[in-house]
Amino acid sequence: MRPCASASTCAWLKAVPGKVWFVGAGPGDPELITVKGRALLERAGAILFAGSLVDVAATRYAPAACVIRDSKDMTLEAMTAWLLDAAGRHDTVVRLQTGDPGLYGALIEMTRPLTAAGIDWAVVPGVSSAMAAMAAAGETLTLPEVTQTVILTRVAGRTPMPPGEDLAALAAHHSTLCIYLSITLLHEVQRALRAAGWREDAPMLVVQKASWPGEEKIIRGTLADIKKKCQAEKVGAQAMIVASPTLGAGDRVGIARSKLYDPAFAHRFRQASVAADAPTGEPVHE
Ligand code: SAH
Repeated sequence: MRPCASASTCAWLKAVPGKVWFVGAGPGDPELITVKGRALLERAGAILFAGSLVDVAATRYAPAACVIRDSKDMTLEAMTAWLLDAAGRHDTVVRLQTGDPGLYGALIEMTRPLTAAGIDWAVVPGVSSAMAAMAAAGETLTLPEVTQTVILTRVAGRTPMPPGEDLAALAAHHSTLCIYLSITLLHEVQRALRAAGWREDAPMLVVQKASWPGEEKIIRGTLADIKKKCQAEKVGAQAMIVASPTLGAGDRVGIARSKLYDPAFAHRFRQASVAADAPTGEPVHE
């Protein structure tokens, strides 16, 4: 057989070294991966997935011949070596991570050696667990005149917090706080919120395994009782902690409404249907 001049002239020839895709698997429900992420899994030659939370997506969508490896017992060096080796054998290699790869995902530690080795790579974002937790509870991250800011953070564990990012300092904004990796340090979260002046009856939410069919647990409480409630429900891992003045807004009276959908507010997709100064009963916001 005559040798091919290039991979593009011979469809059967693998284009190696291939490309490594860092794909966000979403929070757990295999249906919450993006369409692009799923398409990459369907044509992957090799998948390195992060722990038990994403194995369902990997095994559900990957082709039969795909090499699938769990990274939970691997060091960063071992993962990098695996990805480099896989890129030498397959044109599509996927590193599948929970939620979004750019949040507590060691992304840069993995991309740097690939860049150094001349391997092409790219990131496909994913639905992060903070969004999934709020969706599960039917809550909103932002609310007009209450808070327009969301802080994604954690408390210090083995990884220290950089200067100025202590939870008490961040909580002083009284905005929405989505706190990752901290369920075993819930007492630290309570201490920080109290130090920042949050009231004992401030609403809090903990969601374990958000979006996991049949496994999700939603715990609603207050700053005063959230820890006791989590202990009673045996929530000890894979949980998102949310403290926010938006929580419970669905049952609250006197909520300001969004300007975008107000009848008096015109924008490029809609004419105002009442005069801008007509009383709407509530203040309006974009
Ligand atoms: N990249 C991930 C976060 C990884 S860090 C993301 O974007 O979601 C792991 C932490 O994420 C856990 O300690 C927990 O706080 C949170 N987490 C991951 N999946 C979760 C889920 N399904 N439900 C609730 N919290 C989750």
